[in-house]
Amino acid sequence: MADIKNSPVDEVFFQNRKIFIKRDDLLDSEFSGNKARKFHYFLIHDFPQIKKIVSYGSNQSNAMYSLSVLCKIKGWEFKYYTEHLPSFLQKEPIGNLKYSLKNGMELKLFKECPYNELKEKNTLSKTIQKDDTLFIPEGGRCETSRYGISLLADEIINFKKEQNLKELYIFLPSGTGTTALYLQNSIIKQNDNSKVFTNACVGGKEYLKKQFFTLEADESYHPTILDTKKHYFGKLDCKMYRFWIELQKKLNIEFDLLYDPYGFWYMMEFLQKNSIKKPVMYIHQGGTKGNISMLQRYKRKCL
Ligand SMILES: *Cc1c(COP(=O)(O)O)cnc(C)c1O
Repeated sequence: MADIKNSPVDEVFFQNRKIFIKRDDLLDSEFSGNKARKFHYFLIHDFPQIKKIVSYGSNQSNAMYSLSVLCKIKGWEFKYYTEHLPSFLQKEPIGNLKYSLKNGMELKLFKECPYNELKEKNTLSKTIQKDDTLFIPEGGRCETSRYGISLLADEIINFKKEQNLKELYIFLPSGTGTTALYLQNSIIKQNDNSKVFTNACVGGKEYLKKQFFTLEADESYHPTILDTKKHYFGKLDCKMYRFWIELQKKLNIEFDLLYDPYGFWYMMEFLQKNSIKKPVMYIHQGGTKGNISMLQRYKRKCL
């Protein structure tokens, strides 16, 4: 794969409302979703001196999987550090972990990490290059992600022109907030009036706002954060699981289970509460490979 293509836009109806869905889950069969946008920069540029990528995060992370695909394409080694690895996963890896290992990823426990670059892992917010190694922050929370997300912004602005839309409200759920932030940022820099709305899936509103500030000091470039109740990342919520099933049945689209039920739910709530009539787009940010492990947990709890 030399490059990724533009992603399609679906037009669906849900609760009597038209919603455009930007299908970034369909960017490519392997390299897709917002992690492909974030790591696009590395895909299309040459790095003659680089031989290895080192990153860290959870053992089911979508970023981990996308980096494993990138490293396979580039012929780079991939070392990944995680805080803990339950013994059942060690015996039989599933989901993102299984596929990342298949792509040649080397998995290590964080306490064995020899790299000082990762010791300050919570504050690492830029890519560091040292000798033949690139250190990439958790979830691609770094400046290099701006490149691919600005191309997503271009695609959306073109779509808006083609459809003759005067305005567009764009919704997407946030983890680190990197995607929402760079999306709103790029849109403003292109002099487009589309507004980006997001909800916090990790931590609360304040945590997300802080994340925005680590990437952009000027608040006028920040997306709007929806008022939602705080929830704990990865915690199971049967109401959201049932909503995810409903979305799948009614729209015939498989969404991700960690972020999308919340993102879609709070979008619908916001549209109703504020009687929004403007055109609306929801961004499907991929991540469905991670559903296998989430489904195992959900089926045990909610059915
Ligand atoms: C990583 C991810 C997010 C969160 O993206 P951020 O840029 O960290 O806010 C949302 N949805 C999916 C499917 C993801 O993989």
